[in-house]
Amino acid sequence: MAKANGGSLPILISGGGIGGLITAYALARQGLPVRLFEQSPEFREVGAGIQLGPNIFRVLEKVGLKEAVLADAHRPPAQEMRDALTGRLITRIPLADEFYARFGQPYAVTHRADIHGTFLEACQSSNLITLETSRRVDGYEDRGDRVTVTLDDGEDVDGTALIACDGMWSKIRERIVGDGKPRVSGHIAYRGVLKREDVPEDLWRPDVVLWAGPRTHFVHYPLRRGELYNLVAVFHSDHYEEGWNAEGSKDIMWQHFKNEVPQVKRMLERIETWRMWVLCDREPVKNWTKGRVTLLGDAAHPMLQYLAQGACMATEDAIILADKVAATRGDLPAAFQAYQQERYLRTARVQIMARVYGEFYHARGVTAELRDLMLSPRTPQQSYDGIAWLYGGP
Ligand SMILES: Cc1cc2nc3c(=O)[nH]c(=O)nc-3n(C[C@H](O)[C@H](O)[C@H](O)COP(=O)(O)OP(=O)(O)OC[C@H]3O[C@@H](n4cnc5c(N)ncnc54)[C@H](O)[C@@H]3O)c2cc1C
Repeated sequence: MAKANGGSLPILISGGGIGGLITAYALARQGLPVRLFEQSPEFREVGAGIQLGPNIFRVLEKVGLKEAVLADAHRPPAQEMRDALTGRLITRIPLADEFYARFGQPYAVTHRADIHGTFLEACQSSNLITLETSRRVDGYEDRGDRVTVTLDDGEDVDGTALIACDGMWSKIRERIVGDGKPRVSGHIAYRGVLKREDVPEDLWRPDVVLWAGPRTHFVHYPLRRGELYNLVAVFHSDHYEEGWNAEGSKDIMWQHFKNEVPQVKRMLERIETWRMWVLCDREPVKNWTKGRVTLLGDAAHPMLQYLAQGACMATEDAIILADKVAATRGDLPAAFQAYQQERYLRTARVQIMARVYGEFYHARGVTAELRDLMLSPRTPQQSYDGIAWLYGGP
């Protein structure tokens, strides 16, 4: 699929995931033509949920997409952490009025396809954006005054710059950063989505609930205005497979959850086919820009999902990058440097803290006792203070 646009040389984007689409839209809002290449035959996101902190809504409001994203989302009243062996409540963080009063933006959960679809529609409504599927970016040449991208069919395309939004296994990152393959965390995520009517009434909860177990955790929450229910089960495993959509063995998962409370096991039993992600991240870097080429989203700073922030960070990146392009009046190398400078410490902090949260969720023995001792007495305001560095930004 291609949509025509005329005018001057465009900015080129590789990758049409959440990061690529919102970047295209944010740049087009600044009046810049954009040409986006997606390797898949269609624009789509896998069927799973995504949590959206108040920080993403702060930047979406700037580009007029906040309400569109919220329209399909679910607003959970609270986030709960429970002990998966005893069922005991460890902590409950309200996400409604008190939370809104503190951060000035909501907390929401949505289907990945819904937020991706909103960004896609926004791009399709702009005559400055050309969207092209079944087109893989295989290489590029920075020629000083422009960038030439080579596509998989051998075609060369010129642009004023290249923004690589090509995800965790980014080919362009190999050229710019050259830090090899992502780090395999040793954690694996299984996910499934149920229809509301397939969730037993006594198990349905409007909250985001996290069951913390020894070397496991299990999260569930409603999606799509409450019509669907999202389940994610995470456990330690040295299995490795690239990509986000392999089928996961039920038997292997079951071994890790068999000692957990009936509420967890009854939910896990409801899913027929699990899809699996091998969780990876990278060490933070500060050199993800070179001349007229830069990285964005998971290509720049892939993180574990334990703070539920990868898509939020990609969206913050996009809107800040577009602001820098506007501020430097078309000096794209300068804009990319300014964007990287503003982003690298914030995203590095999320990369590092996501690992720490993962350790906490999966704690055993004394570490688990310590976690419970630290979290249980917290008031909502103390919980908000602890996460204000993230939710209060960017
Ligand atoms: C289990 C799990 C749960 C998560 N939960 C949350 C959450 O609750 N909240 C949150 O904010 N984030 C969450 N995330 C993180 C979030 O999903 C990612 O950070 C986000 O999707 C990254 O978007 P992206 O556009 O940078 O990369 P991707 O989504 O990986 O998109 C990259 C795109 O580039 C395309 N591509 C790749 N190579 C090429 C090429 N050479 N040429 C052209 N196209 C190419 C791909 O086909 C793909 O469409 C979670 C992640 C996982 C694994």
